[in-house]
Amino acid sequence: MPHAKQPPPEPLLLRGSLIVLRRKCGKPSCACAQGAPHETPALSLSLRNVTQILTLRPQDLPEVRAALRRYRKAVQDLDRKALVGVRVLRARIGKAKAQRKRARR
Ligand SMILES: [Zn+2]
Repeated sequence: MPHAKQPPPEPLLLRGSLIVLRRKCGKPSCACAQGAPHETPALSLSLRNVTQILTLRPQDLPEVRAALRRYRKAVQDLDRKALVGVRVLRARIGKAKAQRKRARR
């Protein structure tokens, strides 16, 4: 158990996408020499325009999927708020212009 007094850790947040790496290991006796290559799940993400690949263990997948969903939702929420901001600013500017027009008459 971790220290009891510490707050629960923040849920993982991840950017990127899940991919599957496929490779043949090269051992002539391995099943992959004849059949399907080995498959490894991985997280692929772009950092400053450089693609990074983080290979994952199968047991990481549920948490990684949830963390990617969390990120997409957070981005959507932020984008929605930003669009509301545009609407508010547009209304404020429009109102000020209308008042100025009325004042000039
Ligand atoms: Zn193999």
